[in-house]
Amino acid sequence: MKALKLTGPGRIELQDVPVPDIGPDEVLIKVVGAGLCHSDLHILHQGEEWPFFGTTMGHETAGLVDAVGADVRDLAVGEPVLVRAVWSCGECRPCTVGRENACSVNGSRNKFPLTPGIGADGGMADYIKARPEHIDRLGAVDVASAAPLADAGLTPMHAIRSVRDRLDDGATVVVIGIGGLGHMAVQILRATTSARIIAVDVDAARLEAALRNGADRAILSGPEAASEILAESDGYGVDAVLDFVGAQATVELATGVVAPEGAVRLVGLAGGSFPFNASLEGEVLPWGANVQRSYGGTPADQAEVLALVADGRIAVDVVMYPLADAQRAFDDLEAGRITGRAILVP
Ligand code: NAD
Ligand code: ZN
Repeated sequence: MKALKLTGPGRIELQDVPVPDIGPDEVLIKVVGAGLCHSDLHILHQGEEWPFFGTTMGHETAGLVDAVGADVRDLAVGEPVLVRAVWSCGECRPCTVGRENACSVNGSRNKFPLTPGIGADGGMADYIKARPEHIDRLGAVDVASAAPLADAGLTPMHAIRSVRDRLDDGATVVVIGIGGLGHMAVQILRATTSARIIAVDVDAARLEAALRNGADRAILSGPEAASEILAESDGYGVDAVLDFVGAQATVELATGVVAPEGAVRLVGLAGGSFPFNASLEGEVLPWGANVQRSYGGTPADQAEVLALVADGRIAVDVVMYPLADAQRAFDDLEAGRITGRAILVP
């Protein structure tokens, strides 16, 4: 079969490899689509010390069950499924209390849980194998466009659930970066909260799309963005900010517009930072601000995403590329030419 391998810093290659063998507790899935995430670009640009060269890329995978191991129950050949992006153990204390994205067995204090496409072979291939506990049934959800739900749907849902109690009538939430994750965040916020949604991006077309997807206001990212947002509340600030970029400018924007007791969720990984000095005066963050590095999501978050899609309340804006054109898709994502989410089709 064909598989897109990360072969070294900045290098991907479509290789011929054997179809994976499955054990008694594993499932073989014929891939229908594999989403391309901006994280794949971060992975592509790791240095020689990156431990996972040789891995098949892709942590967003949808497909059809092709074969099941002897001990697998409840999954039938031909069933459309989504492979989860967070391969937690399901049994440690974090997992059993609903914090599977902080699994202490398949992850550690400084390392997120095992992920297909990073520590295990991912979905940018003809086939992927996974354990049944890392597979969700798609039911009536369209399998061809489902792959991004495993991350571009899941991760915004997790960040939003962690701030949803703040997003009552009259609240304002800012979404920074209306790409793969951000365009889903706007839709999830519209579907599940009554907050006023302000979308921020550097690209006017993405802001137009955000307005169509339910944002109340769109602001071009830049030096004026913070004062435009603060002007809505006489300088007091907004209830929550979701940063799906994580660049210096966006971390400064997020920490600079959050209200006292407000929430900042840092999801993007573009290397931004902010100072914190625990002093009485002059701090960037207002009193009570709650900042979280938000990672992935949990099975409960995934279930809520799938239910919203099944009800027709949110949908991924997809662009299809043949898997054979993966390099072009990576180049297009890097150059900002993809609106919504790219799916590689084997
Ligand atoms: P994407 O490339 O699809 O979207 C990024 C968006 O940000 C684009 O619309 C772009 O125009 C916009 N943007 C870029 N610079 C900006 C700026 N200065 N101000 C405002 N907007 C700006 O990326 P994606 O796949 O949605 O991923 C977003 C980020 O989230 C990436 O860094 C990715 O690695 C990260 N990520 C994190 C997690 C997690 O669990 N923490 C999961 C998935 C992705
Ligand atoms: Zn666990």
